[in-house]
Amino acid sequence: MPELPEVETVRRGLAPVLVGSRIAGLDARRPDLRFPLPERFGERLIGQDIIRLERRAKYLIATLSSGEDLVMHLGMTGRFTVVQDGFVDRPGEYIHETGPNPTHDHVVLHLSNGTQVIYNDPRRFGFMVMMPHAEQPEHALFRKLGAEPLGAELTDTYLTRRALGKKVNLKAFLMDQHVVAGLGNIYVSEALFQSGLSPDRLAGTLADRRGGPTRKAGKLVDAIKDVLERAIEAGGSTLRDYRSADGTKGTFQERFSVYDRAGTACVTPRCGGVIRRAVHAGRATFYCPRCQR
Ligand code: ZN
Repeated sequence: MPELPEVETVRRGLAPVLVGSRIAGLDARRPDLRFPLPERFGERLIGQDIIRLERRAKYLIATLSSGEDLVMHLGMTGRFTVVQDGFVDRPGEYIHETGPNPTHDHVVLHLSNGTQVIYNDPRRFGFMVMMPHAEQPEHALFRKLGAEPLGAELTDTYLTRRALGKKVNLKAFLMDQHVVAGLGNIYVSEALFQSGLSPDRLAGTLADRRGGPTRKAGKLVDAIKDVLERAIEAGGSTLRDYRSADGTKGTFQERFSVYDRAGTACVTPRCGGVIRRAVHAGRATFYCPRCQR
């Protein structure tokens, strides 16, 4: 499943193609993905210029000249492919990759310059919805989302205030989308490792006796931002068949410190610990029992 860094990698790949372009045509090859495609989908898209392409949590948000947003979620297996015939002679600029099976090419945006942006999604857990841009922050998908992990609102003070009195462990606390938006299983494990915090520690221990942030809370916030930024820089992870918008595979997976490394030696010098796998709320957690406390 694409996590936040993969979605951001897709955004960065698509933005130069989409932003400033006009939508000239739409092929919607089925009525639905996870949810029905928007009503009068073509009518609302065709003729619109794409003003911006932003990301909130794991949602891609294309703002149109009409004042509506096209919100896209990749689900488990969603992927975009950019096809531009004029670039055939410039290999590496775009890779002509229509996915393992073009029968899963469900939505095709035709831009006025001839470029096609194809949405392929074999399992169809992804979705596309439209809403007025002004109503987007209050829309049911966005209203209750917690702090954007790479945004300025995620600070040690914010995290500690949300953790105060919570009787949940750090793993569950950080996976809660109402606390930090878009932070998934992989990057929670990695951030807890990097900050030396056990996934089993109570979230409330991020606060000191007066309810302010401890040093560990600060380290955790730094680690969250650092693991995500490094993953984005590396082009997202390569989990399963995930690819970024330009068809290139990410490389961050090779750099995981604990995720999916159960039974291997801890990478912390002289630690001597062995990475363990535990299950929290049905999701695997990887950690070093020696250097995470
Ligand atoms: Zn260790």
